[in-house]
Amino acid sequence: RAKDTGGGSHYRFEPNLHAFAEERRKLEVSLRNALGRDEFILHYQPVVDARTESIVSFEALVRWNSSEHGFVSPGKFIPLAEDTRLIVPIGKWVLRQACFEARKWPEHVKVNVNVSPEQLLEPNFHQEVIDALSASGLRPERLEIEVTESIFLRDASIARNALEQAMALGCSVALDDFGTGYSSLGYLRKLRFSTIKVDRTFVEGASQGSNESFAIINAVVAMAKSLDMTTTAEGVETSEEAELIRNLGCDKIQGYYFGRPMPADDAKRLFDDNWTRMKRA
Ligand code: C2E
Ligand code: MG
Ligand code: MG
Ligand code: MG
Repeated sequence: RAKDTGGGSHYRFEPNLHAFAEERRKLEVSLRNALGRDEFILHYQPVVDARTESIVSFEALVRWNSSEHGFVSPGKFIPLAEDTRLIVPIGKWVLRQACFEARKWPEHVKVNVNVSPEQLLEPNFHQEVIDALSASGLRPERLEIEVTESIFLRDASIARNALEQAMALGCSVALDDFGTGYSSLGYLRKLRFSTIKVDRTFVEGASQGSNESFAIINAVVAMAKSLDMTTTAEGVETSEEAELIRNLGCDKIQGYYFGRPMPADDAKRLFDDNWTRMKRA
């Protein structure tokens, strides 16, 4: 009640901070139990070839349905999992699950798996990739690991080595959310990324007429081409945006227009079906 707060800001601030910490602690306790309780599932979002619009990959996106908190968005629990290092066991589960589910798709379709810096700093990461691939029978060429620029912030050489080991197996690496982090073009020399994912903010900007966003996408596409990397535009929501992105020369498109993240069964069913029917008009 606004009337009660007239007496000075410190009065309200402390209890709120306490409530926030308490809420976070509860969430952490639940997160610790979530794997054992089988509360995670993966959803898959199609990535399509910009010209043919056929599916080239699915990005695995983790979902948490908590018995105590209901559905918790990854935007909320992934940072918590990273802070508490719970992302290490959770990420291991995601990797295995994604490989097993991708194994049921057509041979030419890849799976993209998000990997946090904490996972790459684990000495075990390389072995976990090998185990997930061999247990599932997925060819390494079908696994693309997505990392953000944050992997270059600390212990960069350890993270880079881990990714190079995965690349030596035949996996590829995509640079996610490009342009939103501590972008330094120097990073692009340090690792042979196969794909640069242009963040949704630029797609949104360009479609709203921002010349700056337009110019940035143009430049990233040109740079990627000369570095022998491909580009994926993230967050394409309308046919107009898809057309714009196609004209800018992006190789691949991901976004609600071509499909929202969906349960594994629905993803698999797309291949039996003529998938273009799901496109929103
Ligand atoms: P991300 O890797 O950049 O994933 C793309 C996010 O954009 C997803 O949000 C997806 O649902 C959303 N998105 C896709 N198309 C559109 C669109 O057209 N419009 C809009 N407005 N949004 C779109 P989601 O699933 O909430 O995931 C958020 C972030 O959580 C991911 O961003 C990723 O950084 C992280 N994350 C998700 N799953 C995992 C995981 O298994 N491991 C790790 N380490 N991080 C994960
Ligand atoms: Mg991603
Ligand atoms: Mg992304
Ligand atoms: Mg993004």
